[in-house]
Amino acid sequence: MACGSDTPFDLGIIGGGQLGRMLALAAIPLGIRCLVLDPDSNCSAASVAEVINGPLDSADHLRRLIECSRVTTFEIEHTNPHFLRTLESEGNRILPAPSLLGLVADKLRQKRHFAEKGLPVPAILAEDVAGPSPYAVPVIQKARFGGYDGRGVARVEPGAEFPLPGKTFVEEAIPIEVELAVLVARNTAGEVRHWDPVEMVFDPRLNLVSSVVTPARVPAGTAARAIDLARGVAESLAPLGLAGVLAVELFMDTAGYLWVNEVAPRPHNSGHLTIESSRCSQFEQHLRAVLGLPLGDTTSMSEAAMVNLVGPDRCEPGRYTVGGRAEACAVPDVHIHLYGKRAVRPGRKMGHVTARAPSAEEALHRARLAAGALTFDTGIEGENA
Ligand code: ADP
Repeated sequence: MACGSDTPFDLGIIGGGQLGRMLALAAIPLGIRCLVLDPDSNCSAASVAEVINGPLDSADHLRRLIECSRVTTFEIEHTNPHFLRTLESEGNRILPAPSLLGLVADKLRQKRHFAEKGLPVPAILAEDVAGPSPYAVPVIQKARFGGYDGRGVARVEPGAEFPLPGKTFVEEAIPIEVELAVLVARNTAGEVRHWDPVEMVFDPRLNLVSSVVTPARVPAGTAARAIDLARGVAESLAPLGLAGVLAVELFMDTAGYLWVNEVAPRPHNSGHLTIESSRCSQFEQHLRAVLGLPLGDTTSMSEAAMVNLVGPDRCEPGRYTVGGRAEACAVPDVHIHLYGKRAVRPGRKMGHVTARAPSAEEALHRARLAAGALTFDTGIEGENA
């Protein structure tokens, strides 16, 4: 694809996974044409956007994507912030800005930035540790770069060996009561909006968010404080070029205090339910924000819950067929989102289900019922859903 001075795509997206797919889907009714870069030409976004096939950190491929797109954004942080800065300095629009991406991609720099701004983060105890833990209490070791979905995070008991190699740091372990996320959006004109805090329910075995509930089941004062903190985090990142959706992950500890864990400057798993629960979804909002449009209304329309659909534990990796659609569709006010991935693998995110209901508990019940009915069956000849 040679674009030259012509830029036929409205939006370039670095990464064509499920987030890229849902961004491109939200773009269709707005008439926004998307181009994605992904190492897999059959990636999730391939059925709804044009694809450039190549590595996410390749200078040549990034240049092609960005020069063919009026604005470029990303769905994954693991790219090449250094080269993106070069492309930005040549006059290309990349949002959020590569310097923000550089800060966020290094979890230690990110934490120090928030600490300097007076935001409550777990205390950083050490860097680049090895051997047995000298601490009298359990601590958390984290990889500085490249970790996601719990990969690159380890809880280390007193005297146990630090398991993670490479560039890592150690932080205080928080006695977590509830994990929360607040999504905030900031557009290029500086307008800021937030959604209601959501509660994230983790699957400790997979280390993945297994379900998300809105509104979070916490006291009203805690929800208000979570929103203040998230907006404070967004404000601290505004001078670095924040535009788009920012997911702020927080912990509420057993004494009711809130801590900022980390941020993701893009649509996030904790915001998938906004497609059905809010007037404007996180995906449409991200498009609006980076393309310089007014932000949409983030008012919640319903209690809702989302359950991730992941590849089963002992499945044979490979092609699959989807089972249980009829049972899942029979659950009231349930919305199924399958990501169109070509192959299933144990623990791989294959889709999600959102349910609305008069109460958060009922919504979670419905979403779990529908998710439990859906299966990814391997060993059968046939096409994927
Ligand atoms: P990732 O980016 O891989 O999701 P996180 O920093 O969100 O990594 O950590 C993954 C999980 O590990 C968190 O959701 C939380 O359950 C736990 N965790 C992370 N940091 C701490 C901490 N300081 N204290 C206690 N638990 C933590």
